[in-house]
Amino acid sequence: MARALILRIGLALAGIALTGCASTGSTSTNGVANVGDATRVGAVDEGFRRAGGTHAQSVFDPIDYPEPNLVRLGSGAPGPGYWQNRADYTIDVTLDPDAETIGASMRLVYTNNSPDTLDYLWMQLEQNLFRTDSTGSLSRSPGGVMKVLEDDFDGGYEISAISSNGTVLDMQVYDTLARVELPTPIRPGQRFTLSIDYAFKIPPHLRRMGAESVEDGKVFEIAQWFPHVCMYDDINGWNTMPYLGTGEFYTNYGSYSVSITVPSSYRVAASGQLVNASEVLPANELARFNDAQRSDEPVWIIPPEEAGTDTTEGFKTWKFGIDNARTFAWAASDAFVWDACTAQITDPNGNQRSVLCQSFYPKEAKAWFATHEDGGSTRAIVHSIEFYSDFLYPYQYPVMSNVNGPEDGMEYPGIMFCGDRRSPDGMFGVTDHEVGHSWFPMLVGSDERRYMWQDEGFTTFINYYSKADWYDHDIDREIRYSLGQTIAVARTAHQQPVMTAADKTWPGWVGHLQYSKPGLGLYILREMVLGHERFDAAFRTYINRWAFKHPQPSDFFRTMSDASGMDLDWFWRGWFMEPYAFDQAIAKVTQVEGGAVVALENRGQMVMPVEMLIEYKDGSTETVQHPVEIWNATDRWRATIRTGGRSIRKITIDPRRILPDMNRDNDTWN
Ligand SMILES: [Zn+2]
Repeated sequence: MARALILRIGLALAGIALTGCASTGSTSTNGVANVGDATRVGAVDEGFRRAGGTHAQSVFDPIDYPEPNLVRLGSGAPGPGYWQNRADYTIDVTLDPDAETIGASMRLVYTNNSPDTLDYLWMQLEQNLFRTDSTGSLSRSPGGVMKVLEDDFDGGYEISAISSNGTVLDMQVYDTLARVELPTPIRPGQRFTLSIDYAFKIPPHLRRMGAESVEDGKVFEIAQWFPHVCMYDDINGWNTMPYLGTGEFYTNYGSYSVSITVPSSYRVAASGQLVNASEVLPANELARFNDAQRSDEPVWIIPPEEAGTDTTEGFKTWKFGIDNARTFAWAASDAFVWDACTAQITDPNGNQRSVLCQSFYPKEAKAWFATHEDGGSTRAIVHSIEFYSDFLYPYQYPVMSNVNGPEDGMEYPGIMFCGDRRSPDGMFGVTDHEVGHSWFPMLVGSDERRYMWQDEGFTTFINYYSKADWYDHDIDREIRYSLGQTIAVARTAHQQPVMTAADKTWPGWVGHLQYSKPGLGLYILREMVLGHERFDAAFRTYINRWAFKHPQPSDFFRTMSDASGMDLDWFWRGWFMEPYAFDQAIAKVTQVEGGAVVALENRGQMVMPVEMLIEYKDGSTETVQHPVEIWNATDRWRATIRTGGRSIRKITIDPRRILPDMNRDNDTWN
């Protein structure tokens, strides 16, 4: 990005005598030129609050975080007492594509690594959302499932057996939750085995999954499809927030070994690695599949002209495995086109490794074709996997698959669903977003039901950079949508903060509040408050500390302050915890000998550093920055500009337009 000279006003200017100014320079404790500020003390209550200073509640006050302990340290790192439970699943499932049903038996091995004895077990039964009497159906949660009723579809789990090592267990079902009574308590360090046989009708596309008919057959996308054990953690004990439709997952890490039986004419994509390719693929497809694993350019495994042409009878069982995963999803179709190639990842120890990037789509999905002039789906996956691996942390799984079907856009470990068929930009935007979720929440396993911004906002933030790189755009262009949404939120009379649980976010606000505002917040933190080097070191510290673990928001906030060395409580409070509005203004400019004094005002409750573009009559320009600390004790600040004898033509604050300023009219002086 072309930027004018950045000039940070520091001590060098503090001693310059400025005739005509109310007061000559003094130096504030933060080492920033503090010209004339003393004259304003005692005259602060002229219609707006002070950012800092004497008010009981200031945006700069320390945040009252939870008391640090050996599990979660005051630095934001997991402590020596950190623990999390583990859930390993083995599932055998059969798809009946004509009846559109699933029948499965699963075995869960649950390891209690907590210091607590567990007297009962809570399970998530997310398919029960699709019952006509589910809480999600009845409560019309944002983006809810009322369509279920209209379509007269009544889904949900039919659980035919639940046992542990042959002992039948009692289970009480409460909507999308079930409480399982244990024969004996699970003590610290013990394992518990649970077996469940179940079935369900596959819903028409409603929420994150479903069935769709296409020209060559059917596409099934299967997710939230097995009873899984709730998270038990040090914060809440059992996490039993129900599945209402918007809040996604808060779930355990573990391994999955899944056998998927489908008609022979079907192909299957799933989380993790296909471990029996030679048993399920016809010889020609197997040869191409092997070629793809050695190619960095897409290889057709099923070219468009072969899609839907397999007429073999009978059934085949596809076997997949994945470790360190927080859930498992899959898709199956008799209409798939399939192409694949590899992305190259470098691990921290310098080892090179390949990730198999695959795309599965019906032939209607023209934008996905490897031969599409805009690159197609598989090249998009390769770009995103390599970009984020470099930017954040190496991609953690051996495979990433993109599936086109009924779901608009949803992420799972090693697989994603993307609905856009014909628009290359739509396909890329969703694909890049869902690949980004491989870091948040797949790698850093936050609580998505309570803190949706910790995955959606973070992913929105990293998407700006990936998109700018893919399209070779100016980065500031990528934030315009988020900026507009953040300003729109701030203008409304009633406000919700970013720290609002997914299903409690007002209808129509999810995109603004959980994606745009936190995404833009991290962008401002990186581009303006901390700078790239300082931000990246802190953000990577957060990822490294919490990879395959479960951070709370306070762990993120603390780590970012701890690892950047900057107290950021004002930022977390103003941007995430409170719905503070932001408005910086130029109140007055006084040209004096050798310089100018710019009277700045902070008219909202949120504070930010000040960036000013000075344009001179001789055509020269410079950019001047003031740190956020200028607002520590006042809402009015007189900034001195050394002009070197030049006449100022125009001054603009926030010249890059990256801040959600409520009133742009007071941002310039001519
Ligand atoms: Zn997302």
